[in-house]
Amino acid sequence: MKKYIFPAIAVVLILICLITILPAPNPKRCAICDSIPYHAPALVNLATGEVGELAVYEPHPFKVAELNEYQQGGTFSFIYVAGLNGYSDTANWETHITIPTNENEYEEKHFCKSCRERIFGHTEKGFLLLDLRTPESFDILSLDFEEIQLVRCYEVQKKEGMDEIEIIVHGTLEIVDHIIVE
Ligand SMILES: [Zn+2]
Repeated sequence: MKKYIFPAIAVVLILICLITILPAPNPKRCAICDSIPYHAPALVNLATGEVGELAVYEPHPFKVAELNEYQQGGTFSFIYVAGLNGYSDTANWETHITIPTNENEYEEKHFCKSCRERIFGHTEKGFLLLDLRTPESFDILSLDFEEIQLVRCYEVQKKEGMDEIEIIVHGTLEIVDHIIVE
């Protein structure tokens, strides 16, 4: 009986090593490429797979990733995006969110193999900023940028602190009597 103990322990150890080394299997639904499209830049929480839009303008009442032509504007609202709190200042067409950069661990299980390859090298801050207008061919917006990044009709600005980055998304569409002019 004793002679089987060591081989059994060895097999168990090898299995544990394999489970640790092997990449996580593809999820049923990838948090990025299976996401719904968003008009404004989107924030991805790499630990939880939560994705949300840093919306500046009001969404279209029934068209996905389009804007409402008749903006009400003039309001201030708190937002909850990708597990973080922020606020939207629609009077100034701005949305603010603060990203803690030392709390999140990248969990690849939320992302498919192809997305893992695309975001490789951009995961160290625990969050990703993406242009998800067409999720299957998304663009990565760097969190390491120095100047303002332009994304279609949005300007993305950042203010870097010790352990956090404040992201400010500013809408640049012209608003005439609450009607958007592209
Ligand atoms: Zn994917």
